Amino acid sequence: MLFVLDPNSPKFMVFEKLNAELLHFLEHAIAGGNFKRSLLTSGDVGQACWDNAKENVANVKSDLTRDKFKKLFTELKKETEGNRQRLYYAANGHQDLTAFFAAPNRGLLSFLSANTFNALKTLMTHLYCSTKDLANVIAGSNGKCINTHFSDFRVINGQVCRACGMEQLAPFRANIEDENQWRADYDHQLCKSKYPIYAVHPDNLIPLCRVCNQDAKKAKDLFKSTLGANRYALNPYTEQASTSIEFEIVNLNDPEPQLKLKWNTQDVTLIDKLKTWDDVYEIRNRVEGRYLSITDRLEDAINPSDYAELIAGVSQKARPVPQATIRRSSWAFWDQKLFLALNGMDKQAFWAEIEFRREQGEEGGEYIIQGG
Ligand SMILES: [Zn+2]
Repeated sequence: MLFVLDPNSPKFMVFEKLNAELLHFLEHAIAGGNFKRSLLTSGDVGQACWDNAKENVANVKSDLTRDKFKKLFTELKKETEGNRQRLYYAANGHQDLTAFFAAPNRGLLSFLSANTFNALKTLMTHLYCSTKDLANVIAGSNGKCINTHFSDFRVINGQVCRACGMEQLAPFRANIEDENQWRADYDHQLCKSKYPIYAVHPDNLIPLCRVCNQDAKKAKDLFKSTLGANRYALNPYTEQASTSIEFEIVNLNDPEPQLKLKWNTQDVTLIDKLKTWDDVYEIRNRVEGRYLSITDRLEDAINPSDYAELIAGVSQKARPVPQATIRRSSWAFWDQKLFLALNGMDKQAFWAEIEFRREQGEEGGEYIIQGG
């Protein structure tokens, strides 16, 4: 993440409760026997999961929550009791995500058969996609639905995506109550296709902007590159990239000098994590894409009427930006970095380009008038 999450970030109680259901189920499934109500907790959320079954809901053909627990139970019975125990220990013993980020266990569930793994994945996807929104699950938690949790998260962490600092999490609408606000997608830091036991783990789910979650990250593995190399990742609760970034502007003699994003650290482990962050969210491509034309940025941000105004504008925008601004304004962190890099260099080439464009524009304007 570009910015570490606020330590007071609210946990979504529905996820805490559903995660507890998973652990309770895995523990009580070890003994085998028949599929029964006591495999789920005795509380309201356990009951809501149990009641959410094909036989109880009219006009539903596909499996619901209880049916998916049952399918997993059936597959687990084909495993040895030792494997069932191992699965419970694997899930219960790896609940601390900070420990997992420090020492990732990439093959955590590799001992399971494909059928069991897939039944687990199907159940967990259903818990995340559908069970979390059941009225009785929400009522059995603290009454807060995911939209309300998102509003609470945004109050604490700001409107801008913590992973990139480039996009708003979701448009905020006045006159709309929290539970009806549009919300951002919740990203599974550890993707549910490879790490299904974390599909409803409250620490694993973080609201991110659509570009980060849907366009860039998708199901990328934080701890393994697409080429299969092991890697490490920034822990969103304790580590951030923002203090390790600098801009360099190169090809100064070209009509359009180019911006390059660089790491300002020699720490090999940290660089590995920064590279993961860049790969997962396509940070470098997005940043260098925005500043492909630095002249465009100067015109848009300053619109100088002479060279002195350009110098003064860059100097003013190079000043440190308040945290509050960074939290509510898209690109504020990155734009300041650009102006800081520009502030220390000769800007004659940019001014010449701006003047050239304006002359061209005027000529074009006259041409259109004459042509008309
Ligand atoms: Zn983002």
